[in-house]
Amino acid sequence: MPQIASFDDVKTTRKERQVPTGTAWRTNFIDPEEDNPASAQAFLVEGTAGRVIKPHFHDYDQYQVIVSGGGVLGKHELQVNAVHFSRKHTPYGPIVFGEQQLGFLTLRAHKDPGAQYLDDPQNRSKLMGLENRKPWQATEVPKFEPVSSGAKLHTFADLKSEDGLASFSMSVAPDARALAPDPAHSNGQYLIIVRGSLHYAGREYKALSVAFVKPQEGPFELVAGAEGLDVLVLHFPRAESVQAAAAPQLAKGAPGTRVWQCMLCAFVYDEARGMPHDGIAPDTPWEDVPETWFCPDCSASKSDFQMALVE
Ligand SMILES: [Zn+2]
Repeated sequence: MPQIASFDDVKTTRKERQVPTGTAWRTNFIDPEEDNPASAQAFLVEGTAGRVIKPHFHDYDQYQVIVSGGGVLGKHELQVNAVHFSRKHTPYGPIVFGEQQLGFLTLRAHKDPGAQYLDDPQNRSKLMGLENRKPWQATEVPKFEPVSSGAKLHTFADLKSEDGLASFSMSVAPDARALAPDPAHSNGQYLIIVRGSLHYAGREYKALSVAFVKPQEGPFELVAGAEGLDVLVLHFPRAESVQAAAAPQLAKGAPGTRVWQCMLCAFVYDEARGMPHDGIAPDTPWEDVPETWFCPDCSASKSDFQMALVE
């Protein structure tokens, strides 16, 4: 049976704590099974404007879905419904909570012991000592299209790979039915109801609700409520094939230019492209990138980069 919970079901688990940069809340949607760490874990993280979660990594693959407010992850603006995926042992951050505060879901197919912060030298050396690490992350904002009958499915362009990683956004018309993609080739599937409602097992689950479907449980039947339904469908890659997954694709530099890669998170600085977003023009050699510049994904400094490819 898929596990499912609405915010109303779990709001009594919402715990508040004070952190140095503000107030934080955590609400558990799906708890891992006591005796089975290879089980799903989903919770909502919220915080006041200005709260900072320092750059860190986890031991397991993870999706994050922005559900309220805004902020930045590394140098990337966050908006509602944006989906961030990070493979295990891929550092990212900091996450800085914006003026409108910020709420995001953290979703895993396996229980994780918690954030491992990069400012702890032990975590840093653990990361650098891991063999066959394939750091990779991406953020994508899904499309939802209003539908008057049936359903519409969009496949994410970036959040997919041959080892089962796949992400979809689906809109189902009011009172219509549709099958979600089959999780058979994944390591588990999350369904996030972000608008409208879902009828399931004799109940109505309104946004925000979270379901986890195991690979063998088959395609989930989405039965929309009177307002229709917008749902994110997020597939985890199969753990056993992570090593076979594509290493981060290096952008090839133009002839005579070089490519530099963050040794922590695999972000690539391509001299030919520069970083216009950071005021670094195309064709800026690495030596001319300011020493104060840092990795847009994980905040590593210039000294954490190595030349990756010479054309
Ligand atoms: Zn980095």
